[in-house]
Amino acid sequence: MTGPEVTVRRQRVPPRDRILLAVLAALLAVAVFLPRGGPEAPSYVAPLPAAPTEILDLEDLHADLEELVRARPGLCRIETIGHSVEGRPLEVLVLTNTDGRSRRRAWIQGGIHAREWLSPHAVLRLAHDLLETDEGLLERVEVHMIPLLNPDGFTLSKSKTQKALWRKNRARGPRAGGLQGVMGVDLNRNFDCEWARLGSENPGRETYRGPGPASEPEVRAVQAYLGRIRFDFALDVHTGAPYQVHAPAAVKRDARGRTRHRRTAELMLKALRGSRAPSIFGGGGSSRFLRTASAGGQAVNYFFEKAGVPTAFTVEMGSFFLDPGDAHREALVQAWLNAFRAALDSL
Ligand SMILES: [Zn+2]
Repeated sequence: MTGPEVTVRRQRVPPRDRILLAVLAALLAVAVFLPRGGPEAPSYVAPLPAAPTEILDLEDLHADLEELVRARPGLCRIETIGHSVEGRPLEVLVLTNTDGRSRRRAWIQGGIHAREWLSPHAVLRLAHDLLETDEGLLERVEVHMIPLLNPDGFTLSKSKTQKALWRKNRARGPRAGGLQGVMGVDLNRNFDCEWARLGSENPGRETYRGPGPASEPEVRAVQAYLGRIRFDFALDVHTGAPYQVHAPAAVKRDARGRTRHRRTAELMLKALRGSRAPSIFGGGGSSRFLRTASAGGQAVNYFFEKAGVPTAFTVEMGSFFLDPGDAHREALVQAWLNAFRAALDSL
């Protein structure tokens, strides 16, 4: 059955009304885009910058952090927590949607080892990811992240092909033979937690632990920040070993800590398995996904034993240094973003 035929004709708008409509539309547009809070407190919202797919240099990484803050001033801010040996700022991005009523806090650090380029990239991508898709999570969890804890070493590794595999910071001091020069300290052996038990006392070695606990400004900056703010969860993100997470050494004598770490590691592994990346992680296997770090001046041990963070991991993203290449970079990042978010969701 068909209804009666209806003819709809376009009504002609008289010229005077058209002008009125145009004026109203213009007023509406002004009202929508007007900065809120008055000229002394601009709080405009710009589009979020596109998430970088390439691994950025230090300057571009910092510029990207600043763009995120410009785009979402109500959700994130940058804090400079110190400076590296060569004077580069150590920038922390704080993401929160809790109006200061934060429930849980997470600390995520990347780029402690210079040649592990995917680490700062993945941490930066997590910031983009949380702002793009998960403001809800930020209502429950305040995320503090330092994508690049070793900016001097990273800059050297990124800019000089013959130094690409540099690992340590750029501390100066006596090298082998008594000559002064850059010997570099392995920042992940320099934390003030059973410092002398791990790493090397030889400045020429890759794992040189430094002249004393927390001798390095990068490490002191993190320790001071974690002394000021109490965290519920922490990650130290690396590459260069089979994909796995390491719990702090002290969970061996802490049954409840062990259970808590096992539970969170299982959530992360499940998230990783849901992605296609494990086939390209290289080496190792999921059966040994959760391991225990060695006791010594590693960040993860400091987090747990000294800073009172109840759940903390060293993350190994996979067996590669530098840039894993166009074919693998994005799959690896997506897989680990899923794992990081699974852990943050469980807080
Ligand atoms: Zn590392």
